[in-house]
Amino acid sequence: MTDQQPQTPYPLLYPETEIKQFWENLAKDKFTTTKCPKCGLLWPPKSTCPKCGAKADEWIELAGTGEIYALTQVGYAPPAYKPLTPYILAVGQLDEGPLVVARVEDAKFEDLKIGTKIKVKIKKAFDVDSYVFVPA
Ligand SMILES: [Zn+2]
Repeated sequence: MTDQQPQTPYPLLYPETEIKQFWENLAKDKFTTTKCPKCGLLWPPKSTCPKCGAKADEWIELAGTGEIYALTQVGYAPPAYKPLTPYILAVGQLDEGPLVVARVEDAKFEDLKIGTKIKVKIKKAFDVDSYVFVPA
């Protein structure tokens, strides 16, 4: 494990998108998503439900707990992440249902498996608030 954080020479545009509220909530240590009034939670958060087209402007705070749904160890990464290799990338199924992709920190790949309990940890990456999974 390393405390080194990825750096990028590219400006990050996502804070200006329709899900700007997600990043503002993250900066307040809240892991949130939007909810469609007909279909339920959406991930990633969207202002319009991709299934039924309804406006999804209700923000829900997620517990951030769940379990590993799938995982891999990345050995060859994009330039910004190269200093972190090898690192663990997982799809986590949150207790509320959404499947979320994030790096896993504070764990060894060989100690993880499908079903391992994890939780979201909010932290800085690329000088903005971001999130990773850590063992629960
Ligand atoms: Zn919907």
